[in-house]
Amino acid sequence: MVDYFKELIGGTISLATGLWITFKYMWQPVITLQYPRQSVKMTRRHRSHIELARDSETGEVKCIVCGMCQRACPSNCITVIGEKSEGAKKKVLTKYILNYNTCSLCGMCVENCKPEAITFSDEYNMAGYRKEDFIMDLKKRFDEKNPKSAAATHNVAGGLKEDITRTSSN
Ligand code: SF4
Ligand code: SF4
Repeated sequence: MVDYFKELIGGTISLATGLWITFKYMWQPVITLQYPRQSVKMTRRHRSHIELARDSETGEVKCIVCGMCQRACPSNCITVIGEKSEGAKKKVLTKYILNYNTCSLCGMCVENCKPEAITFSDEYNMAGYRKEDFIMDLKKRFDEKNPKSAAATHNVAGGLKEDITRTSSN
């Protein structure tokens, strides 16, 4: 009987202590991040999927469609597609397909890109039910963020011949 009352009193004290702590913190400023209503600022060294960098002068992609990133990727998850008009010296990037399912975030593509045309994004919110959700066209993503660049590419693409830049090693 004594034990019963001891347990009862102990339990009541424990419950009151817990409620008191909850009540005390209820009035204090929130220090945790209210995800997903608030977003996290990732650190500079964070690595998420790669993305195309923007040339600050022209507003276009920096990519020159050389295919080095594609050749350097050990997981074979990059396909660079460019178009070249009659008489033009340079190709224009039209698609940059990344299969993020097999990307190991090794950074070989970023390291081997001489014009520094790709960087790691700070995306951390990716989710999907199908592997197709992680096969993305980075040029399309770039155009969605930079509509002016999309219009320029569309103009250049008129009557152009598409050329998939594949290396002999791939
Ligand atoms: S290495 Fe850089 S410039 Fe060359 S195709 Fe890849 S992203 Fe474009
Ligand atoms: S980070 Fe590595 S695995 Fe991923 S796309 Fe670049 S080279 Fe390929």
